Amino acid sequence: MPSDIAELMRAAVFAARAHAGQTRKGAAAEPYVNHVLEVAEILAAHGAPQAAILAALLHDTVEDTEVTHEDLTLAFGAEVAGVVAEATDDKTLPKETRKALQVSQGPKKSDAAKQLKLADKISNLRAIMHSPPRNWDHARRTEYIGWSGRVAAGVKGVNPGLDALFDATYREALSHLASDA
Ligand code: ZN
Repeated sequence: MPSDIAELMRAAVFAARAHAGQTRKGAAAEPYVNHVLEVAEILAAHGAPQAAILAALLHDTVEDTEVTHEDLTLAFGAEVAGVVAEATDDKTLPKETRKALQVSQGPKKSDAAKQLKLADKISNLRAIMHSPPRNWDHARRTEYIGWSGRVAAGVKGVNPGLDALFDATYREALSHLASDA
């Protein structure tokens, strides 16, 4: 059996390769893999289970790269692939439907997927504060932060430290927005 750390490093390399050449939407155009590393780091720092941290590293591969659910199952097993599947939007649906589903489906997800969703939203709120997409005006950022809060409300309650970090980040994002108005 490879060690937990060896598995985490294998997932990090897998994600880095899958997202090679992709950048974040923000003005800083960071490599996309920075985001999944940050989500994994947030979970690790808050004592989330190994499967959630592995799934965090891999969470955007199926949605945004050529990687399939079957690839993940073969490489990392059914549990991790299952958590990624829970965190993956159905891209055949219109964007507004996907956003509504993230709010309504959150409470039905596994504890690992709930923690992953919350850490994902924390990372995205930080990105909106520090490197928003150039074409996002104040109204769009306001809408995004509000929606993040509604998604978070449905996935909190598993990990109190993570809940507190989300709340602090959400408040910070709102005050950042107010100072930017
Ligand atoms: Zn993400």
